[in-house]
Amino acid sequence: MTPKRTKALTTKEWNRINAASAYSQERVAGKLSEALVLATDARKEQRLAIHLCPCCYYQGASFAGQGFTEWKCILCETKGMYPNTAVPLICDTCSDSFDLCRSCGGTLDMTRKTSYDKRVKRTK
Ligand SMILES: [Zn+2]
Ligand SMILES: [Zn+2]
Repeated sequence: MTPKRTKALTTKEWNRINAASAYSQERVAGKLSEALVLATDARKEQRLAIHLCPCCYYQGASFAGQGFTEWKCILCETKGMYPNTAVPLICDTCSDSFDLCRSCGGTLDMTRKTSYDKRVKRTK
């Protein structure tokens, strides 16, 4: 057991404590509003416009190196160049046709489909 401090805290110490509390409160508020954006899919239109699932879109861009990188769609094997090293897995055409996330290759609504769904899916 450490002995208890008996001396009262100074104003300066309180200021520091309060600043830390305010900062923590802000961070929690920030996390909560981020969670709300994710939970409600608040930017769905912008997200779908760039062919990303909620997981890939809201978690933000992964660390990407600079420089054009060659990549190939895992479905149709179309080759392309990408402005950084965080290359997509799926091209826009395949993403559009099968409603897939171009970044992780899952479905845009993150649900698992059966092969039956795939047959009825192709709408475009
Ligand atoms: Zn493709
Ligand atoms: Zn994704």
